[in-house]
Amino acid sequence: MSIEKLKTIIIGSGPAGYTAAIYASRADLKPVLYTGMEPGGQLTTTTDVDNFPGYPNGIDGPKMMLELKEQAERFGTDVRIGEVTNVKLSSEINDFHEIVINNETKVHAKTVIISTGASAKYLGIESEQRLIGGGVSACAVCDGFFYKGQEVAIVGGGDTAAEEATYLSNICSKVTMLVRRDVMRASKAMQHRVNSRKNIVVRYNTEVEEVIGQSVVEGLKLINNKTNLTDTIPITGFFVAIGHKPNTDIFKGQLEMDDNGYIITDGKTTKTNLPGVFASGDVQDKEYRQAVTAAGTGCMAALDAERYLASIDS
Ligand code: NDP
Repeated sequence: MSIEKLKTIIIGSGPAGYTAAIYASRADLKPVLYTGMEPGGQLTTTTDVDNFPGYPNGIDGPKMMLELKEQAERFGTDVRIGEVTNVKLSSEINDFHEIVINNETKVHAKTVIISTGASAKYLGIESEQRLIGGGVSACAVCDGFFYKGQEVAIVGGGDTAAEEATYLSNICSKVTMLVRRDVMRASKAMQHRVNSRKNIVVRYNTEVEEVIGQSVVEGLKLINNKTNLTDTIPITGFFVAIGHKPNTDIFKGQLEMDDNGYIITDGKTTKTNLPGVFASGDVQDKEYRQAVTAAGTGCMAALDAERYLASIDS
């Protein structure tokens, strides 16, 4: 059987992937988009999205992703359920890249737009996993507003945790920040910001034993890892900010990445180190990680792909 040949393949179905698909299909690149294991991406784990421009009353995350999919399909994007399990990317200009779907089907594409996103890391304890969506969140900017005037906690000692603790302190009455070591990893400037907020309490050497609550978060059981003393605190929102993992395992050894596994793109473009391969969204952005910024870089990736195809055609 001959291998399907495409102009453009888009890997991933979050805001970056679907926005790339809208632009690529309107430019007649006839893109095929593979959704991956989590169609719709991280936003399908959120309820209300209140910060995406154009939705004055907010929108439900899964609904927004469905609408983005419909918009991409309206212009002819071929959206397929399937996971890219392997790739053989070429370093030759005008060559085809090989993409393997579900360990069996091979597809060849002149341009590849990688929008596989990143996954928030969680502590992994049973009570935390059970209460995701019931007061456990990995995104303060997305969900902090729901805890306006309430007491919340955030775990992590990096820049994200410090930044999100500060963000939450503007909204919530009290923020308890839980740091597992006796120091924070966050920059001094971020730490200073945290320490200058009267309603942030930092607890060092502290780990979460259990998130208390049946269907919604009611508190945390904490343990001091130096003294082994435990206590509980009442909270309604529990934010996890212990880092993200970009979904780049299948590209390792082929694309340039930073120490954390994020794909490196060239300057203000979405170009990777290989011709015809572009990266957009959280897979190449550890700083902003917003739906709207992901969508913006998805648009850029489609424009970069279009220009690349035009340049090899001429
Ligand atoms: P980091 O990996 O930098 O920090 C993760 C934090 O979570 C660390 O304090 C770590 O503790 C802690 N942690 C990890 N696992 C656990 C666990 N199981 N239980 C408790 N705590 C845990 O991730 P960030 O998301 O904070 O930052 C990622 C990158 O993005 C960094 O390079 C950062 O500088 C950058 N960034 C920059 C921003 C800015 O400049 N405005 C804003 C946000 C991020 P430990 O220290 O003990 O390992």
